[in-house]
Parts: sequence; C-alpha cells; structure tokens
Amino acid sequence: ALGNRLQGVFDRLRGRGALSEDDVNDALREVRIALLEADVALPVVKDITAKVRERAVGQEVIRSIQPGQQVVKIVHDALVEALGGNDEGPRGLDLNAPAPVPILMVGLQGSGKTTTSGKIALRLRGKERKKVLLASLDVHRPAAQLQLEQLAKRAEVASLPIVAGQTPLQIAERAMDQARRELFDVVVLDTAGRLAIDEALMAEVAAVKAAVKPHETLLVVDAMTGQDAVNTARAFNEKVGVSGIVMTRVDGDARGGAALSMRAVTGAPIKLLGAGEKLDALEEFHPDRIAGRILGMGDIVSLVERAAETIDQAEAEKLAARMQKGQFSLEDYAAQLKQIGKMGSLSGMLGMLPGVGKLKAQIENANLDTTILKKQSAIIGSMTPKERRAPEIIKASRKRRIAAGSGASVQEVNRLLKQFEDMRDMMKRMNKMGQKGMMRGGLA
Ligand code: GDP
Ligand code: MG
Repeated sequence: ALGNRLQGVFDRLRGRGALSEDDVNDALREVRIALLEADVALPVVKDITAKVRERAVGQEVIRSIQPGQQVVKIVHDALVEALGGNDEGPRGLDLNAPAPVPILMVGLQGSGKTTTSGKIALRLRGKERKKVLLASLDVHRPAAQLQLEQLAKRAEVASLPIVAGQTPLQIAERAMDQARRELFDVVVLDTAGRLAIDEALMAEVAAVKAAVKPHETLLVVDAMTGQDAVNTARAFNEKVGVSGIVMTRVDGDARGGAALSMRAVTGAPIKLLGAGEKLDALEEFHPDRIAGRILGMGDIVSLVERAAETIDQAEAEKLAARMQKGQFSLEDYAAQLKQIGKMGSLSGMLGMLPGVGKLKAQIENANLDTTILKKQSAIIGSMTPKERRAPEIIKASRKRRIAAGSGASVQEVNRLLKQFEDMRDMMKRMNKMGQKGMMRGGLA
C-alpha cells in the first residue's frame, strides 16, 4: 500500500524540522502511482499532487507522528476537497420542486440504472414517505420494462403500465401525465443504455430531458469502470447535462478513484453510492470515506487526527529521545499504556509513535486488547521504581508478589516482561539500523 511505500521515503525524514521540496517530490511520486492505481484520471492526479506540493513543502513535521503519515493526511484532505468537501450541505437528492418531481436516470448499459431506480424508489417511499412512480423508457431491451416492473413490486411502489410500441419520449410524457393526475410526488424515469457512448443514445436521452425537464439528471456509473468513467462522464455531461452522479458497485474491490475523476470532469456532486444488488443497498456519499478508500489508508488519517488531539507533544518527543538512546523503560511503557487507553486503539497508537511503527504487527499478533492493557498497567504499578527501570532484576519470588499485588497470574507477569524485552530488542536493532543508514549517508 501507499503507506509502506511512503514509509521508505519518510524514514529518511525523521527528526527534521520541516518537509523540504525534494522530500515532498519523492513522496508525491508514490502518491501519483497510488492514485493512478486507484483509477484516478491523469489530469486529476496532476491537480491533486500540485495542491499537495503547495501545502506540504515547508510544513512543520509533527514529531509525535511519522512524517509519512502526516503527508498522507495532507493528500487525504486534498482528496476530500476535490470530492466536494465534507460540509457541502445536503448531498442527497434534491426534490425541492413542484410535484411530481421528475428524476432522469442516465448511463451506459449495465451500469446499474434500473437497479438504482428501484433503490431510490424504495428509499423515497420508506424514509421520506413519498408517492413514487417508476417508468422504464428502455424500449431497446425487451425485458427491460419488465425488470423495472418487478423492482417496483419489491419496493412496493407504482410502475407505469407497459404499452407496446411507444417511443421513450412518449413513455416519459405518459408517465408525467399519470403522475400529475394521480398526485405522485416523484417520477423516476429509467432510460436505456448502450455498451458504449453513441450519438443515437445521447440524442434520445437529450430529447427526453428537453421535454420532461427533470429536476435531477443522475448519471449512474459503475465504480469498476475505472479510467473509462471519465470519458463516460464527460460525454454525458456535454451531450445531456447531469446534476448528480451515482457510483455503483462500491461493494466490489474498486478503489473508487473514478468518483474523483467524474466529479472533476463534470463538476456535479456524487450523490449516492450503490453498494450491492439488494434494493436497500444504497448509501449516502461521504467524501472522507471514499478518499480513505482511494488512498487505501483511511485508518492512518483518523489516527493522525486523533493523535493531534490527544498526544502530548512534549511527552512524545521526550519518549522518542529516550528510545533513540535505548533507554526505553517499563515506566515509559506504562505511560504509553495510559495514553493508549485514552486513544482506544493499542496497535494503531503504537504505530504512531516514532520508531515503533514496525512493532505494530507484532503487537497485533500478541492479541492485545484493552483488558490486557489495564492488567499490564496494574502489573507495572506493582513493581518498584527500580524494577521498572531494570526489569531483569525481578526474581521468581518478586514475580509472585507482583502478580498477587496486581491481581494477575505469574504467567501474565512473565508475558509482560517477555514482551517488553522483545520491544526493547527491536528498538535497539532499529536504532542500529538507523545509525548504519546515517553512516552510509554521511560517506556518500
Ligand atoms: P442498467 O443496464 O444500467 O439498468 O443496469 P442494471 O440495473 O440492470 O444492473 C446490471 C447488473 O448490475 C445487475 O445484475 C444488478 O444486480 C447489478 N448491480 C447494480 N447495482 C449494483 C451494485 O451497487 N452492486 C452490485 N454488486 N451489483 C449491482
Ligand atoms: Mg436498465
């Protein structure tokens, strides 16, 4: 993942005051690859990296977190902004118009228009108590109108009776007529798609749009389309005009970069996400979630945010200095356990301490959770200060006393001591590696 790659770049940065232009350029090379791998279109990638460069160069390195993580956060924030920002206001459908409000669904064949029409109908009927009419304008595939009729039944909403031989335009007008007569709140017009963009399809959809004047024209795009999504979005926006985007199949393993590209190309907001074949698999769009997914490291971002809030900067720096000198003691460990308790996540928190990032997996394997965390604090609390600084002096009889004093078993005391020893060894080894690296740098 990007995190690992960036780690290499930023390992060299540790301990410096500010991010230099060269450092940031190195990192941005990795960011660029990560974004392209997530299917973000090249011009959009260039935009984002330019923005990140501007912001990151010269920024103070926060000592309590790893610089690589800090840059990930800057990239993440730029992505969130490019996706429309977190406080853009209501992101769902805009139904603020005289009833019946027409919604036009457009997109390529197989993108999920018909399914999404059913999902929207179900949501509007259920949550918003709207009277919804579903109408299929797809006269190209014989089964298409029946498919929508079935979905309408499942969503328990009305569907326009099927009449053979009508054009899409005639069907749309019939739908609006019926909706006005029968006082429907919303009419969802599901159109036909083609496998690729073609003029006839665009003309047909544009004609319907001109006649019906939909309040929302939703472009439905499959998240798995990747780089092609940008061409699709551009074509539909130029020829038809779209007011919002629905990205489907986010339940698959697509990284979601298409959302970023489509938003950039059309300027239209991503309004909803399709996350499965079932009718209730429709989600609100949250820019920060998609940004995390594009980067493949949403966790780091929230950890950095929480770290900035919770960690005492000065303490972290003192600790880092002691670790570098190989003076990490059980007292430090206990202090960290307390911090971790505040943060909630042990492995995540350890990952943020300078130099301890690589222990994370080891700690996770040790299966630590908060009860163990409390117990370990209690065990350390039952030791004398001398024992905490030099745990190797603890003999079997003292172990039994410490166990009794903290309500733990002797095995648990042993486990803690062993774990601490492993941590200290690891830190020593890492320090040695760091020094060798520095020497190499100095000789070059
Ligand atoms: P249309 O040609 O644009 O109308 O596409 P359909 O609505 O007929 O969907 C094509 C296929 O994609 C169907 O098998 C749907 O069940 C499936 N589909 C639609 N949306 C999603 C989604 O969000 N996730 C998944 N996994 N499948 C979806
Ligand atoms: Mg369809």
